[in-house]
Amino acid sequence: MKVRYSYLKQQFSNCDDLWRDLKRFVPTGDFTLGKPLQKFEKSFAKLIGTKYAVGVNSGTDAIKLSLKCLGVGHGDEVITAANTFVATVGAIMELGAKPVFVDCNDTFCINENLIEKKITKKTKAILPVHFTGYMSDMKFINKLGKKYKIPVVEDACQSILGSINGKKAGSWGSFGAFSLHPLKNINVWSDGGIITTNSYRDYKKLLLLRNHGLVDRDTVKIPGYNSRLDTIQAVVGNWLLPKALQIANQRIKNAKYYDDNLSKIKEITIPKRNKNEKTVYHLYIIFAKKRDQLLNYCLKKGIEAKIHYPKPMYLQESVSFLKHKKGDFPITDRHCKNIISFPCDQHLKKKEMDYVIKAVRNFYSSN
Ligand SMILES: *Cc1c(COP(=O)(O)O)cnc(C)c1O
Repeated sequence: MKVRYSYLKQQFSNCDDLWRDLKRFVPTGDFTLGKPLQKFEKSFAKLIGTKYAVGVNSGTDAIKLSLKCLGVGHGDEVITAANTFVATVGAIMELGAKPVFVDCNDTFCINENLIEKKITKKTKAILPVHFTGYMSDMKFINKLGKKYKIPVVEDACQSILGSINGKKAGSWGSFGAFSLHPLKNINVWSDGGIITTNSYRDYKKLLLLRNHGLVDRDTVKIPGYNSRLDTIQAVVGNWLLPKALQIANQRIKNAKYYDDNLSKIKEITIPKRNKNEKTVYHLYIIFAKKRDQLLNYCLKKGIEAKIHYPKPMYLQESVSFLKHKKGDFPITDRHCKNIISFPCDQHLKKKEMDYVIKAVRNFYSSN
């Protein structure tokens, strides 16, 4: 049996109604900042529970434009998690700012207790990452931001519909940055991203920033970017968004099934599942003894398990100027050695999960 990681072949295999929408849309020629985009932004804001949402051309740009809107620039510092995906760091560095890393905790989010001592006069933003679909401790982080008057931007790229006490990812900070990349939980057919905010002033500024700073065709108010979400992708988004809750809930159900079964294996540790939190499992990650051997065994058995990530961001060559060395972030380091990810998406079948569970069990009983 083969258990694939990517479900993209299934995700759009049965969407005649979407093709119908696209066939209607294309002859309108409404390709740039068109009506379906406005509809998508309204629906997305409503889904997250914010007043506004602004479509941009990637999740990376959603972070970058949020930071830019706050005035982050050359020489400023932005605090973020040491275990994050490269894009978080890339967005900071594109603005000439310096990423300041903080170690993560065992639910893959920034360790909130370690943030305060990284705050300096240069700190312009705190950028927690709701990694894997877990939520960062937003109550604590917002309090800290308030105390030091430092705005908080949520990297919510992996956590669409994640929430704490019902308050959703992307509605806690000054901005929430989301990705619509094909590999994310809500995925369009190219790169795409969207920013949520409750501030009318910031909303208006983001509209300028994503479109060259243009107020109208002939008036350039501020320096901006070409970072619009393509309207044709918004048509895809409008088709998918009504399924968002169902997608999140199916992932949660799958994770629970894995948890119930894999927790019986003593060499496996399931990360703490937080009460009052909805974790949306963009990634399903567990801790495993003899991880490398388990990974190889799974791959041999046709299971596309993965490691997110074997080499942490803070040790990558692109940030060597920060002069970090192995051991600076011990929890991140430990995770690199003992985490393993299994497919957990909404298209996964029970028999595929059973096959994964059986393979893990067999591995440990024979090794
Ligand atoms: C995917 C992702 C991004 C960037 O999104 P893109 O749309 O690929 O630019 C940023 N941060 C995290 C944590 C992500 O997983």
